[in-house]
Amino acid sequence: MSKTITVLPGDGIGPEVTDSAVRVLDYLFKKFHHDVHFVKALIGGAAIDAEETPLPQKTIDQCKASDAVLLGAVGGPKWDRQSMTVRPEQGLLGIRKALELFANIRPAKTFAPLIDASPLKREYVTSVDFVIVRELTGGLYFGKPSERRGPHKEDVVDTLAYSRYEIERVVDKAFQMAEKRRKKLTSVDKANVLESSRMWREVVTEKAQDYPDVEVNHALVDSTAMQLIRNPSQFDVIVTENMFGDILSDEASVITGSLGMLPSASLRTDKLGLYEPVHGSAPDIAGQGKANPLATILSAAFLLRYSLDLDKEAELIETAVQRVLEQGYHTPDLQVNAAQTTSVNTAEMTDQVIAAIAAQIPEQV
Ligand code: NAD
Repeated sequence: MSKTITVLPGDGIGPEVTDSAVRVLDYLFKKFHHDVHFVKALIGGAAIDAEETPLPQKTIDQCKASDAVLLGAVGGPKWDRQSMTVRPEQGLLGIRKALELFANIRPAKTFAPLIDASPLKREYVTSVDFVIVRELTGGLYFGKPSERRGPHKEDVVDTLAYSRYEIERVVDKAFQMAEKRRKKLTSVDKANVLESSRMWREVVTEKAQDYPDVEVNHALVDSTAMQLIRNPSQFDVIVTENMFGDILSDEASVITGSLGMLPSASLRTDKLGLYEPVHGSAPDIAGQGKANPLATILSAAFLLRYSLDLDKEAELIETAVQRVLEQGYHTPDLQVNAAQTTSVNTAEMTDQVIAAIAAQIPEQV
């Protein structure tokens, strides 16, 4: 059956990096005879310019009708300068909400040729390979409306609220992910202080019965923040509440050292997901062919794995990225450690990834 991927290029380098990822996907779909087609739609500043809204209804409808969404990035000085009530970033938050994407997946994986870009010592980061599953639509950022109280408004309240169901569905996602990886799940909370964390722990312990192959441990968020620096290679899958996940995933993102290399996925209970690089629209280099497309290409690998169940094709991409870096190819933002290095532009980097995929596929396919 034919599948559809909606592509939301957005602003700045968004169109360049999504074009690269589409080229890589298109190559794989043709090679393996998968019937998948792409439809483009507007989001962010580009949508404000064309439709006066960062998230047109037809974009939402198009995304809902597709099997996966690939997004570039939104925003830029053009829309910062205008004193508008509509902002490109509203498109991003709006689409995540409209699609009810409750699980945000951010990996931290070091690539051997980039290890010296990490602020941590080489020996601590050589074998780092974990993912953080962050609850995205509940918790402290989505409690009852925050308020200042009292006659002089000197008391303040934010609410960390979860239903059991909201915890169960994200914890399930994390277990499923751990089953496909090294079968280790770390659930992060603050159960020594917060009632919501005690329920979180209860749910994880109950759910563990359904996944007997996965080893589970519970850790406090403050201790996890330290462990991510002291011994990041101990982790496989981490699952946690919205705000804890926000902070820990930003901490984890610097371990690997390169913003242009970090993919992400936002998932829900069915297969529809939204895939995007962690970086922004990089207006300083937009349109110059300097953008590193690898974070978006790696997001496309996630798309294949989580939305289209094409694990083998996803691995071909991931191995290709690894090989290209080992061969010393790099965009200007990357310092690779290889015997010979070659600086390439966005399109050339994409060509190299496609060539490295082709090199792994036997002739008869
Ligand atoms: P940024 O991630 O766009 O850029 C930070 C620095 O990293 C810049 O020097 C940029 O050139 C470089 N960089 C980023 N991605 C790169 C890539 N793929 N290849 C090479 N270099 C890359 O963050 P910023 O400068 O803080 O924000 C710029 C705009 O992007 C703002 O409008 C911001 O609101 C928006 N933004 C969007 C998203 C998103 O769409 N998800 C995320 C963050 C920021």
